[in-house]
Amino acid sequence: MKTLLLNPATDPEALPRAAELLRSGELVAFPTETVYGLGGCVFNAEAIARIFAVKGRPADNPLIVHIAAPEQAAQVAAELPPTYWLLAEHFFPGPLTVVLRRHPAVPPIVSGGLDTVALRMPRHPIALELIRLTGEPLAAPSANRSGRPSPTCAAHVLEDLDGAIAAVVDGGACEIGLESTVVNLLSSPPVILRPGAITAEQLARVLGEPVTYWQGEELAATPSPGMKYRHYAPNARVLLVFSWEELQHVLRTEPLTSSIVLAPEAAPFPLKLPLRPLRAETLYAEFRAADRAGIRSIVVVCTPEVQRNAALMDRLRKAAAARPEEQP
Ligand code: AMP
Ligand code: MG
Repeated sequence: MKTLLLNPATDPEALPRAAELLRSGELVAFPTETVYGLGGCVFNAEAIARIFAVKGRPADNPLIVHIAAPEQAAQVAAELPPTYWLLAEHFFPGPLTVVLRRHPAVPPIVSGGLDTVALRMPRHPIALELIRLTGEPLAAPSANRSGRPSPTCAAHVLEDLDGAIAAVVDGGACEIGLESTVVNLLSSPPVILRPGAITAEQLARVLGEPVTYWQGEELAATPSPGMKYRHYAPNARVLLVFSWEELQHVLRTEPLTSSIVLAPEAAPFPLKLPLRPLRAETLYAEFRAADRAGIRSIVVVCTPEVQRNAALMDRLRKAAAARPEEQP
């Protein structure tokens, strides 16, 4: 299959063409403000099965359903509790995914067999227009091969899926660059299953009750199945240090060849290794670039400012925890 690269900035037919492909059961990758999604029509179980197949995604890892208006949630969720409307009012469109009861019309495969459904309304104008033109919600996980860093531009999608999907809609680089916050509204109080750009404090303020991060020792018991799989990791070994002093110590004691340093600011001392910027928006692009360059180790300097960013720390810890035997 030839994968079409569609650009709405230069081609007025790009989105109508993408919507037509989706309606005929094909898969189309599209930009959102978080990362690129791999979309398929939510009520088309065959298309959904193909999403799992082309990504190499385990069948028990559920997908997020994307809607173009808060009311559209009624098509995929069995019930919309008051907490849903409150959060939708404040955070939709935006990088927030809510977990609710699945509507019987949604094929179970979308939710990896769970009786719940995760949904969100993205705020990227291309994503919203594509969902509207298609006329139904789109199930869309990140448009990467399973285990690879999520794609934050069209070239990343092609790197992983060229020839395997009908089209990619090019919307340039993603504004946020990390996946959405996932909050379970079926538990009381609500629990964050995956940290993202919308924080626990923001959610608590709107809901008027405490919101906590899900904390489990045993990853296999996670209520968010996707969290137990290897994620966000480059081929290189990722090593976290928490101060510039610790970096100096590591550089003195470890023989680091073909390595780079990722840090949010310039080093306060001369550095022999290349230094690359550490920012949420570009983390995955840096991981992919390091893989292409054959980098063996990435040392990440987690300054106090970085440590305060729950979403960024979550992805960095996951990348650092990837066990060597899982490295491709
Ligand atoms: P991705 O779209 O690739 O970022 O992955 C979707 C994420 O949302 C995974 O971490 C899933 O575990 C999580 N998720 C999707 N649906 C559900 C659900 N019904 N219950 C809990 N977590 C979910
Ligand atoms: Mg993903």
